[in-house]
Amino acid sequence: MADQQWRREQRARDVALAKGEEIARLNGFVTGPVDPFRVIESEGGIIHAEGDDFRDSFDGRLSYHDGCFLLIFNTCYNRWPRNSNHHPKIRFTIAHELGHYYLDEHREFLVTRQEPIESFVEFDSSKQVEREADAFATGLLMPNYLLGECVNCEPEATLDVIKMTARDFDVSLTSMMVRWTQLSHFPCATLCIRGGLIQWGFASDVFRRYGLWKTKRSVAPSSVDASKFLGFDTSYSKFREGTGWGRAQQWLDGECEPIDVQEFYVVIPYSGCAMVFVIADESELPSRWYDDD
Ligand SMILES: [Zn+2]
Repeated sequence: MADQQWRREQRARDVALAKGEEIARLNGFVTGPVDPFRVIESEGGIIHAEGDDFRDSFDGRLSYHDGCFLLIFNTCYNRWPRNSNHHPKIRFTIAHELGHYYLDEHREFLVTRQEPIESFVEFDSSKQVEREADAFATGLLMPNYLLGECVNCEPEATLDVIKMTARDFDVSLTSMMVRWTQLSHFPCATLCIRGGLIQWGFASDVFRRYGLWKTKRSVAPSSVDASKFLGFDTSYSKFREGTGWGRAQQWLDGECEPIDVQEFYVVIPYSGCAMVFVIADESELPSRWYDDD
């Protein structure tokens, strides 16, 4: 039963992501970055967007008033370094709020209930509607048709390559690490650490095919190199990065022979968390009995 519900929710997130990609395509983006403000303009005045510094009260809010939508976004993240008018987290927030507008059930809720939806974005919320809107934002800002090829010409992706791509798409390193993992045909995973524990994560399909089907949660990382890096300063208030080595099984649940992974760590001060990217050498993956024929 729980499995069925998980599948249903996963399907809804896939639909939301595809909708985001469709909106990017319909707006004619042929290269990154995708500008969510252009998407707002394409709706011809139905959406009014306004930003202000709301400190840590919420990232974004969408509400419905007499045929129009009011999209409020929190500009507090603009205190951090950025490459354009708005910090990548704000661009993601706007894309996320657009998810509440473009996804039918979300819009219906706004119009019929006349209640605003308040959001915390970038994969931190466990609520299904928020995860669907995050999936929409991921698809809109990093559609497969613009990014997939670039991800899959990098069998040995490093944090530097992902960072560069995040800059090209003007998205945060966090969301690019997630999207990279989703699109990768190589064995990799992305995890978020907060308060010393793994909060959430994504694994690429290759790991899943090897039986490592989901990332660990609510436990401290057991990789020695990672613990050393993370333990150095647990406030996660200053940017720093590092690398190390561990085993895929230290990050992922499932049954599989040991797989060595290279680990990349980076502290994201504006989110107060650390992100970890792990990648295995494809040629060193254990053989699977059904690979023989
Ligand atoms: Zn939301």
